[in-house]
Amino acid sequence: GILVADLIAKPVAQFPSKGKLTNVDTMELHTGGCATNTAIDLARLGEDVGVIGLIGSDALGSFILNRLKAENVDITGVKHTEQISTSTSMVFSDPDGERSFLYYPGANGILAEADIDFSVIERCEILFIAGSLLMPTLDGEPTAKLLKRAQEFGKYTILDTAWDASEKWMSAIGPCLPYLDLFIPSIEEAQMLSGKDNVEDMAKVFLTAGTQNVVIKCGAKGCYMENSTEKHYLPAFGVNAIDTNGAGDSFVAGFIAGLANKWDLKRCAEFANAVGAHCVTALGASSGIKSKEEIIIFMENRSNYHD
Ligand code: ADP
Repeated sequence: GILVADLIAKPVAQFPSKGKLTNVDTMELHTGGCATNTAIDLARLGEDVGVIGLIGSDALGSFILNRLKAENVDITGVKHTEQISTSTSMVFSDPDGERSFLYYPGANGILAEADIDFSVIERCEILFIAGSLLMPTLDGEPTAKLLKRAQEFGKYTILDTAWDASEKWMSAIGPCLPYLDLFIPSIEEAQMLSGKDNVEDMAKVFLTAGTQNVVIKCGAKGCYMENSTEKHYLPAFGVNAIDTNGAGDSFVAGFIAGLANKWDLKRCAEFANAVGAHCVTALGASSGIKSKEEIIIFMENRSNYHD
């Protein structure tokens, strides 16, 4: 199985009418948070997946758990806290499908080492950590320790970033890089972390710092992947983007599903682009995600890539 650690508790109140908050009169409640999105997408792709995280003992927490159960995501690794409510964010989509956030911090911000049950990780093959795990303290050491231990147990380790504009961010990610099989940031994050302007230079910085593979998510341009023996630019699939919310998480789910199916890295990245493309064609993080078989058929029938 696959384990997705970290942010579980972020119901997303989404505004389907698009535009500014002042113009909105209805909201839709969706599950959200990088880890939750990736876990649900993986389950829809047919993979065996669970989450680790912390939620408040409240209605939003129950909403998230019910949705995860309904999507066949294992929730054994999810803990409750009485200390603080479930984290929530509101997402505004502008007419181009780009989004902005209003974030209300909560339970996932106090997730501590003691809340993580390592026996849940021991049962899995792949450990994916959404970088938001590093955000409350910007201290990379506890996450690095967890990744190191997972690698010692033979797990394939993956880290995504989560946007944070502070200069401390690289010092948080840095300690984790030596214990990664795959680092999978977005291009904006990769640029900020590395201080470089082109993807090959960015990838070099991360490979030198110790990760085995780097995949940089480049939005409508697709992705770039590199390791010590290969590098590929893989263009995105041409689709009508409605809502990019969760695209990065869907991309990660596609990549992990490829790894779980023992595909080569280039095919994993192509499939990840196809899952990301499905995400952006529907409102809500996971609404557009179909079965693995349907997405493979979509890939095989598509030749109209973006440049
Ligand atoms: P994030 O959500 O982390 O910012 P990106 O915006 O880079 O991530 O999107 C992740 C992936 O989703 C891209 O690498 C690409 O495969 C796919 N994707 C994103 N936007 C589009 C788009 N407009 N058309 C097709 N695919 C897209």
